[in-house]
Amino acid sequence: MKVLMIGAHQDDIELRCGGLAALLKKNGHEVQFLSVSNGSGGHHRLSRPEIQARRAAESAKVAELLGIRYDVWSDVEDCEIQATLEMRRRMTRYIREAAPDVIITHRTNDYHTDHRNTGMIVQDASYLLIVPNECPDVPALLKTPVILHSEDAFTNPPFKASVVVDIDETIDQKLKAVEANVSQVYEWLAFTNGEEQDVPPESDPEARYKWLCGMEITKDTTDDEIRAAKRGYAVRFARTAARFREELIERYGEERGAKVRFAEAFAVCEYGGRLTEEQKKQLFFFEK
Ligand SMILES: [Zn+2]
Repeated sequence: MKVLMIGAHQDDIELRCGGLAALLKKNGHEVQFLSVSNGSGGHHRLSRPEIQARRAAESAKVAELLGIRYDVWSDVEDCEIQATLEMRRRMTRYIREAAPDVIITHRTNDYHTDHRNTGMIVQDASYLLIVPNECPDVPALLKTPVILHSEDAFTNPPFKASVVVDIDETIDQKLKAVEANVSQVYEWLAFTNGEEQDVPPESDPEARYKWLCGMEITKDTTDDEIRAAKRGYAVRFARTAARFREELIERYGEERGAKVRFAEAFAVCEYGGRLTEEQKKQLFFFEK
């Protein structure tokens, strides 16, 4: 299986699909990341060229950590992604060349214009992937890939999970991939969350990583404790398991489903390839 994960910005993919990416790789599948923009908007002190260069290096590190191909459209400025005909055709060609079985991207209702437009561009390209007269320079696909939307917290309309994946086995890799986005998790996002002053110094990497995780989550941590926890990325990924506990139990059975600590959730996009209920159950299902 080949899975193409498309985010508007570099950290989006690691945050939403990093555990699944590592899990797929572990099970012998192919994973490719695409960041539609160059990330040049993501800093409060650095100029666009400065932060773009830093993030390019961070993405290279993520590619190495996860063993994946990581593409960045370096000519598309952060905060300037638009769902134009030109971008649709560029995406159509890109997806045809990648020829994935599954694509994962943003929903089209989201707080960030870049996320919305990325979701829209993929959605607009989805049917055209099989239309030979559209972008005839790249052979059309014979079959539309399955398209999934990654989890978000927006409620109007609400995100409805179709596939919830146990990522306990790869949570450390996911957290390391998230951490590799140093300019974001320890600087820009910390700044926007009003937490920059709390970030431990670079000279103490252990304290930094602990701060990043927010809380130590063990097999005995309850869903209520997770819900009550204030911050941290381990907490965030555990919250997905707590949020979709019923779905996890349905998918993995009472015993395993109740014990899953960390999860990622995806919703099937109805404009992508068809997926039967049986196929949905099998998608990204890995025995432990
Ligand atoms: Zn983003």
